[in-house]
Amino acid sequence: MSDLETFRAETRDWLEANCPPSMRGEMGGEDEAVWGGRNFVFKNPDAKLWLGRMGARGWTAPTWPREYGGGGLSREEAKILDCEMARIKARPALLSFGIWMLGPVLLEYATDEQKREHLPKIVRGEIRWCQGYSEPGAGSDLASLRTRCEDRNDHFLINGQKVWTSYADQADWIFCLVRTDTTKKHEGISFVLFDMKTDGVEARPIKLISGNSPFCETFFTDVKVPKKNMVGKLNGGWEIAKRLLQYERQNISASGFGGGGGIELEEIAKHYVGEEGGRIADGDLRARIAAHRMEAKAFSLTVRRVEDEAKAGRSVGPAVSIIKYAAAKLNQDRFELMVEAMGTQGLGWGGEGFNASEIAATRGWLRSKGNSIEGGTSEVNLNVVAKRVLGLLDHQ
Ligand SMILES: Cc1cc2nc3c(=O)[nH]c(=O)nc-3n(C[C@H](O)[C@H](O)[C@H](O)COP(=O)(O)OP(=O)(O)OC[C@H]3O[C@@H](n4cnc5c(N)ncnc54)[C@H](O)[C@@H]3O)c2cc1C
Repeated sequence: MSDLETFRAETRDWLEANCPPSMRGEMGGEDEAVWGGRNFVFKNPDAKLWLGRMGARGWTAPTWPREYGGGGLSREEAKILDCEMARIKARPALLSFGIWMLGPVLLEYATDEQKREHLPKIVRGEIRWCQGYSEPGAGSDLASLRTRCEDRNDHFLINGQKVWTSYADQADWIFCLVRTDTTKKHEGISFVLFDMKTDGVEARPIKLISGNSPFCETFFTDVKVPKKNMVGKLNGGWEIAKRLLQYERQNISASGFGGGGGIELEEIAKHYVGEEGGRIADGDLRARIAAHRMEAKAFSLTVRRVEDEAKAGRSVGPAVSIIKYAAAKLNQDRFELMVEAMGTQGLGWGGEGFNASEIAATRGWLRSKGNSIEGGTSEVNLNVVAKRVLGLLDHQ
């Protein structure tokens, strides 16, 4: 048996023995997702057990080095782990901005001390992170950010405001872009990490049209940050910021924004519109759903190819903007079709007239409006493609 076959057999046995039955199969709702962190309340004790087991093995971040708590797996082994988890429909043990965004840039830019301090806690889901990038007046034009970070000899002092900070009210730490030189734009930005419990940090939730409150306005008033918490060089944060955005775009795209759960559009349409000889009764809707399905299939194959290329050593680059753009459009199209097929039943907010999946469809449709904004708007991603992939305009 080859090494990889042995690894597959051992992984299969380990997963069979360690993945609790209730952690297999689709999640019932968003509230079953595990984000970890100091204050996280587990809805199901099995979710805690599953995170504990996967975290101890480093398999929440399978390819990160073992010395920083990761699984130390090769890319081929990580792929086998993915396949074996999919085989038993194992749920992800942990959803984490730390794993998707911060960890990869720490591995690339942080000191050994910073890696040792932060990476193992990310892997085990002990510390939950939020992203302090956008500000009022600095969203697409992120480099206009004004949150000041002053050198006060033995520490930095931070004053300013962030906005749209997802889960800032639940996060333990923030990775934050700050202005350390007011005379330069891109070269005056630094990348710092700090504890959300530090005096002077305040997160105020903002309510969305979907009824959720996933993000906040975040205020910093005389926040003291230890100097060892700066990642990379003073005024060298822009390069790290852009790199992290590439990881963010790659991850949210590969997950397809988590849209729509496992229910097939065809089944929904047959249920609400009716069937004719086993097909959706409305020919026009049927054709559009078929076209969407083909696009979705082509998209998922492209994502797999890009992932394989990345795993073969070619790291993420600006081309990830193509995927982010397409993923946002696909997910929005999917929800438009779903709500259209459901008719008035797809516009339920609550009450006895609507069942749980109808309400979830309405809220998912409203939430999907944000897909073409979060992680960089569609227009901005198309600009990235024009400039940095196709070379159509001068680089900034
Ligand atoms: C669900 C969600 C979660 C988010 N989570 C976070 C988070 O955790 N942390 C964080 O820091 N931010 C977060 N954001 C904020 C997000 O990054 C910004 O909303 C986004 O970058 C756009 O910035 P803006 O809202 O200021 O819009 P603006 O930049 O003001 O854009 C307004 C419109 O102008 C267009 N536009 C702007 N510039 C150009 C241009 N050069 N060319 C063409 N069109 C242009 C845009 O495409 C858009 O349509 C989140 C946003 C959403 C929707």
